[in-house]
Amino acid sequence: MNGYDRRHFLKSTLLGTSGAFFSLPALAQGEAQTNSPLSSEKRFITRKLGKTGIELPIVSFGVMRADNPALVKAALEAGIVLFDTAHGYQRGKNEEMLGEVLKDRPRDSFVLATKVPPEEVDNRTGEVKAGSTAKAFLDKFDISLKRLKLDYVDILYVHGISSRDGALFPAMLEAVQTAKKSGKARHIGMSTHKNEPEVIQAAIESRVYEIVLSAINFKQDYYPKLKEAIANAAKAGIGIVAMKTMAGGSHDKERKQPINCKAALKFVLQDENVTTAIPGNTNFDHLNMNISVNTDLKMTDEEKGDLLLGKSQGGLYCQGCEQCVPNCLKGLPIPDIMRAYMYTYGYREPEMAHSLLSSLNLPEHPCSDCSHCGAACAKGFDISDRIKDVSRLTKVPVEFLS
Ligand code: SF4
Ligand code: SF4
Repeated sequence: MNGYDRRHFLKSTLLGTSGAFFSLPALAQGEAQTNSPLSSEKRFITRKLGKTGIELPIVSFGVMRADNPALVKAALEAGIVLFDTAHGYQRGKNEEMLGEVLKDRPRDSFVLATKVPPEEVDNRTGEVKAGSTAKAFLDKFDISLKRLKLDYVDILYVHGISSRDGALFPAMLEAVQTAKKSGKARHIGMSTHKNEPEVIQAAIESRVYEIVLSAINFKQDYYPKLKEAIANAAKAGIGIVAMKTMAGGSHDKERKQPINCKAALKFVLQDENVTTAIPGNTNFDHLNMNISVNTDLKMTDEEKGDLLLGKSQGGLYCQGCEQCVPNCLKGLPIPDIMRAYMYTYGYREPEMAHSLLSSLNLPEHPCSDCSHCGAACAKGFDISDRIKDVSRLTKVPVEFLS
């Protein structure tokens, strides 16, 4: 726990020098909560999630990498409201862990989001394929509900959409609308970490999706275009939730040059059209730091300087711009492989990387027989070197990685 235990966390966070700004006793006693669970005396900054009627603190909890129930409980007690998971995280254990923690809580005291991917996606392009039916999606969603021990989720996302066609794929539109009509999903959206401006624009056109969960961070060269798309979505009443705000957490593989994560989180939330962000927390230090942004969004000069400097450094975050893809002799899904590289070295989550790589059906030695790599990276990554490095993981049995 990095020298920081739960008691220390609660003490410093809940009763710190700035005063007791959350209602811990109220939450502990299960006081009825509404869509705006934070009362006015609490000083979290909150924003409305599009037209859903849900109001959230600007910092939420991306549970993806968390496997410690005490961390989720502490976040609940501290006033975090939205918890984000997915069907595939930790091979279902993430949803199960959340289900255990949440099962005895009043249903309106938290907002739960999960994501379900389309059944078939083209490994190279990321496009949703014709074999992706509404039924297959809804069957997976039912499994998620069972793991979560819930009758309904507050937000159901179609997971990992990367194009306009994917966003408007008829079977996925049918699936989420069916889930909503049945009452199993209060609100519906999609998640994207590639071609985000295009996907957000398509969400507006769909007139179906209410929320988009998008990668947003200071490393994206196309951030101004993304910001414009987000503004358009906000005007159309679509709620925007931010992920990948910390761009991999480190500038280097060895993690000797960490990104100023607090500054990176604040940067994304400067845009008031972003309702909330879902940074991951794997220990109480992370949680403490992220929660602190809920009450203080102002960026210091030092933080601005760190981000300015950090933007020019290569780092681990692939922005999914696909500039490299047309020049790869084997048509490899380079952005996905780079994401696996970030999971391995930025997140220190080889199991997640293994799961992603396995889904890509890569050749055994992806780059070994190319005499020259023509796939140049806009961010200066040595693409073939990273592919050779991370693809070794696929040869390791997954049991050895968990
Ligand atoms: S070395 Fe790898 S990334 Fe480069 S062109 Fe060959 S297969 Fe593609
Ligand atoms: S590897 Fe580089 S060029 Fe390719 S998608 Fe990622 S950031 Fe863009």
